[in-house]
Amino acid sequence: MLERFYPDETADSSYEIDYEGYYEAGYRGVIYDVDNTLVPHGAPADERAKALFARLHEIGFSALILSNNKEPRVKSFAQDVRYADYIFKANKPSAKGYREAMRRMGTAPETTLFIGDQLFTDVWGAKNAGIRSILVKPIHPKEEIQIIFKRQLEKIVLYFYRRKRAKEVCHGEKPERGKG
Ligand SMILES: [Mg+2]
Repeated sequence: MLERFYPDETADSSYEIDYEGYYEAGYRGVIYDVDNTLVPHGAPADERAKALFARLHEIGFSALILSNNKEPRVKSFAQDVRYADYIFKANKPSAKGYREAMRRMGTAPETTLFIGDQLFTDVWGAKNAGIRSILVKPIHPKEEIQIIFKRQLEKIVLYFYRRKRAKEVCHGEKPERGKG
């Protein structure tokens, strides 16, 4: 039941992902959450973010910012990083914005990657749209109270997620035979 919130992968940061490898594997579009995924909540695009989108463009990726935040915030960020389209008030975890993002980038669920910092909006939405998701650690630890509450719930889900992952790794090392 909790599996609907499980990311396909986790990473320490949006800036520490093997984008070249994903491109080689056939991925062509990357959808990003913005707040606490690329910069602290509400912060403008910094040099690191600008360099990332230039790098994605160089590799050959289409990129899009998918945010539940309002237009002025999302639009100015997308304009600052260049090479990124944007969708604001996306209503994640609804799959609608993710589908619109793929339509604009000309990609399919199999060739699209999603990167975000929250399970109950970002990851769940990607799952609803059938897109591979990477959960990253939130950039800024200071968060609004309703997000702090959600983080507590996320911790519970992540506990079971990590336990499941650990078991899978265990089984990988010592495959059980003669069962089933
Ligand atoms: Mg976020």
